[in-house]
Amino acid sequence: MRPDLRTQQRNFLLQITRAITAQLDLDEVLRRVIQASLVMLAGRVAIIALDDRQAGGFTVRAYSGIAAEDLPPLNQKLRELMRPLDEGRFSREFLNSKLREIANSIDSGLAQSIAMPLVFASKPLGLLIVFRSYQTEITREDLSTLQSFADQAAIAVNNAQLYGELNREHQRLEAILNNSGDGVFILDAEQTVQQANRAFGRITGWTAEEALQQPIQDILDWQALDMPDLQAALAAGWARPDAPLEPLYVEGDLRRRDGSSISIGITYAPLLAADGSLESIIANVRDISNFRMAQELQSVFISTVQHELRTPIAIIKGYASTLSRDDVDWSGAVMRKNLAIIEEEADRLTNLVEDLLTASKIQAERELRLSIADADIKALATQSADRLKSQTDKRIELSFPEAFPLIQGDAARLRQVIDNLLTNAIKYSPADAPITVGGRYTEKSVILFVRDKGAGIPKDQIDKIFDRFYRVDNSLTRQTQGAGLGLFLAKAIIEAHKGEISVRSQVGSGATFYFTLPRD
Ligand code: ADP
Repeated sequence: MRPDLRTQQRNFLLQITRAITAQLDLDEVLRRVIQASLVMLAGRVAIIALDDRQAGGFTVRAYSGIAAEDLPPLNQKLRELMRPLDEGRFSREFLNSKLREIANSIDSGLAQSIAMPLVFASKPLGLLIVFRSYQTEITREDLSTLQSFADQAAIAVNNAQLYGELNREHQRLEAILNNSGDGVFILDAEQTVQQANRAFGRITGWTAEEALQQPIQDILDWQALDMPDLQAALAAGWARPDAPLEPLYVEGDLRRRDGSSISIGITYAPLLAADGSLESIIANVRDISNFRMAQELQSVFISTVQHELRTPIAIIKGYASTLSRDDVDWSGAVMRKNLAIIEEEADRLTNLVEDLLTASKIQAERELRLSIADADIKALATQSADRLKSQTDKRIELSFPEAFPLIQGDAARLRQVIDNLLTNAIKYSPADAPITVGGRYTEKSVILFVRDKGAGIPKDQIDKIFDRFYRVDNSLTRQTQGAGLGLFLAKAIIEAHKGEISVRSQVGSGATFYFTLPRD
């Protein structure tokens, strides 16, 4: 370095290192280091190679004065140059000869190479090499100035690398958070939302932007809460440094932003600052609607099955033990009547077990297997009506056109549907009200309907009556037996035939159930 320029260059060095260390973008830091070193050393070519394990070792990350296509052989040579250093076998001769080789491979006019290691906290980060077209002596003092520049550059490179890593880590966390199926939100100690993910938006109806800086109490509008909420945890001592840091789990029904309801479970975990005070709260929200529904279904199932099984078993047991009394001689007529009741109840049990098995099969396999053949809906309905007429005082009228087309279907399953619709019409209408079963057809489909003049079905229950174990809760259903499986099975059977089932009803004036089946 020229002595008359030394003071000037010291100032320059100071300015340059400030400019470099103020940068956090690695590419920009490297660009500035290259430019400053070219100016300082009046160089023609400069390269910075960084130790990049992923790329396979030392790799040129910034350069000036060489063509991009020269980089692969250059990387190769740099790795050869660094190998002995890596292995602790440093030799100045080897270094000089390799540098000369590198300079010649770039440009035969390069006369001198100055290599400066970039080292931070004893960790070699990379190498800065400047080539110039003339050769001058480099003094000890020059070397120390250059090394202090290289040290500053290494600090800047290290900072920028750390910042880059931090940024990548931040993006990774953000991606995990945003793609998580569970809702996640972070609160500050005052319970104001600091961050929320997409699933949180899906669950509560509040987008992350809308929720930001809002008190969480304004967002979580509980309809029912099974356990004390966050307030209670705070009151119990989360805010106290000596309190145990147990996560808090709460569960309940939340009113979402659009007014709909959802069952959720939230786990709150406290995060403490170094002084032990509460810094933030990380919360995980899970949609537990399906879990709750399954629980509810299970308890409905247990109580229905218990009730429906117990009643016929009690009747069978009662009649059987009466008939088996050896102190009474029953007449043939009494015997036959009582045995007929036992048989009827045993049939009811068999049907119930059969329905339960079919329902669980549908649940497991998601569809019903059918034995398809010619099926005569009119004949099935007529037989069903005739059979049921013998069991009830109610009038059952038939309303079919003379000729009714055959369809392709599973006759046994379709009989089950018609039986169920007719049995329901009998069960849910008063003694003197007539019931009609009839059919219509078009070019493409056949339609069967069962009409009664009974109690009807409330509008808000119409969709639910086809659900498993669902029974409308009114005095009529309480007086009649049923497991709430008939319509669920009817729907599954009709849908397996690619048909549709529906109901039209008005409370007080009766109900008409329809099913439509394709003719082919
Ligand atoms: P179940 O008759 O065993 O209760 P279903 O699945 O056949 O089960 O019917 C479900 C519910 O739909 C019944 O409990 C009843 O509340 C209602 N329902 C069905 N058919 C009628 C009808 N014709 N009139 C009024 N309500 C009906």
